[in-house]
Amino acid sequence: MYEYDQFDRAYVKARVATFRDQVARRISGALTEDEFKPLRLQNGIYLQLHAYMLRVAIPYGTLSSAQMRQLAMIAERWDKGYGHFTTRQNIQYNWPKLADLPDILDALADVEMHAIQTSGNCIRNVTADHFAGAAADEIEDPRPTAELIRQWSTDHPEFAFLPRKFKIAVTGSPNDRAVTKAHDIGLRMVRDDAGEPGYEVIVGGGLGRTPVVGVVVRDFVPKVQLLAYLEAILRVYNLHGRRDNKYKARIKILVKEEGLDTFREQVETEFASLLELGGGPSLVPDPAVVARIEAAFAPPAFEEFAQHDADFATAYAENAEFAAWCDSNVAQHRVPGYGIVTISLKAVGAIPGDASADQMRVVADLAERYSHDELRVSHEQNLILPHVARRDLATVHAALREVELATANAGQIGDIIACPGLDYCALATARSIPIAQDIAQHFADPAYARTIGEMKIKISGCINSCGHHHVGHIGILGLDRAGRENYQITIGGDHTETLKIGERLGRGFDADEVVPAIERLVTTYLDAREGPGETFLKVVNRLGTAPFKDALYPTKETADAA
Ligand code: SF4
Repeated sequence: MYEYDQFDRAYVKARVATFRDQVARRISGALTEDEFKPLRLQNGIYLQLHAYMLRVAIPYGTLSSAQMRQLAMIAERWDKGYGHFTTRQNIQYNWPKLADLPDILDALADVEMHAIQTSGNCIRNVTADHFAGAAADEIEDPRPTAELIRQWSTDHPEFAFLPRKFKIAVTGSPNDRAVTKAHDIGLRMVRDDAGEPGYEVIVGGGLGRTPVVGVVVRDFVPKVQLLAYLEAILRVYNLHGRRDNKYKARIKILVKEEGLDTFREQVETEFASLLELGGGPSLVPDPAVVARIEAAFAPPAFEEFAQHDADFATAYAENAEFAAWCDSNVAQHRVPGYGIVTISLKAVGAIPGDASADQMRVVADLAERYSHDELRVSHEQNLILPHVARRDLATVHAALREVELATANAGQIGDIIACPGLDYCALATARSIPIAQDIAQHFADPAYARTIGEMKIKISGCINSCGHHHVGHIGILGLDRAGRENYQITIGGDHTETLKIGERLGRGFDADEVVPAIERLVTTYLDAREGPGETFLKVVNRLGTAPFKDALYPTKETADAA
């Protein structure tokens, strides 16, 4: 884990003290809500439908058990006893009182956390592969890179007022679990011909009202030049990005309007001049700083285990529920004898991404005891125990079961991403949460879910796409149609390294028609697949959308034929 130094600690505490004074002035009426708005936004505080909402950064989704316990304490003391983990690896509190916010921020600072740059037109929380440092397929742990970017971008004076918000994601694995192609900048760790690690830089991806798949702007940037290259991109964007129209202000529009070649030329010119100037002191990271960061992410002291663990084998053979959980929720670790555990925050009937204070505390205890004190938050709104010895898996499973966190559905149809939607969000046009709950309920039979296999359903309550519906195998977008909630369905989206935007099938559905529509898609898939190994996405890629369209909108002929 990265630990704050003296400077970091003093800086975050000073920010809280300043904000405390601003809150006092808002409460006394010395500041109007309009005057207060830019001040609260700089501290991650939104005004939602019913209350203020605080968005807390979890840099690259990494948490310690102490931090998780503090998040639980905050949920219990100042909120309604739960928090909501988001698709950008943050946690949001939906019900804090304005007067309590400085105390909450102080409590976060006590465990080296904050809410700076979780809103506003600046570089937002840097996200990363949630299996970082543990995955068997990893080239290198991406978190030192993400931490370096965090330090460079926090309060960067030149990039505090960009045309729009700016999101960066980093993956250290060729199998992209960080959705890099849907970010303003995506960084994929690669090696050059000499075996040196560096980054492929992807630019201009994003979802929202204009979904765009990011494109490679440079095949390889050496590690030492990364910050200079990022600075060059941000300078070009800051200078040329549109400020006249909020909906055309993201870098994806700039890249499209200028063309990739022109954009690249501008970046390369800026980059060359930065290199000529020696990069400036902030752009060539001090080797001592890099060494300190890398040391903070040194692998924990793994034990050496034999490949075969008799206790694990017995539990797996004798406990079908445990075996099913291992199959769906435990991924391969790079060290033999260990597994990566996904803790599903998607129990049937639960709100996707929500965790109660009690659940957070159990997860913190398990991390401390069985996962080298490490936790991760995934963009799929689940929690991860990255380093669990196989011999401990049965114990961990039993403890999770006690608090309804052992649902064996990671990657399956019940593992639905859903944004807060109309239940909380001021921008929403429809509800997301009840739709997710209805679908999960309908497909609650674990055997049926296993038969369906890998299935990513993603739901957004408006065109802003926080639920990533464009890249869902099945995407659901809630809209308002003449005062009624209406849900458009897309299929064939893909959020991995082969990122693809799903195709819309036709007219939208009323809320009570969504589950039957999903059932028709699933039945069509099961009828068409060539074997259990052929996933929904593979069938869509093989057959196209036509059979699914027919299933959703049968004409008289197709209905008669069926
Ligand atoms: S997608 Fe829309 S409704 Fe959902 S959280 Fe984002 S802004 Fe709110």
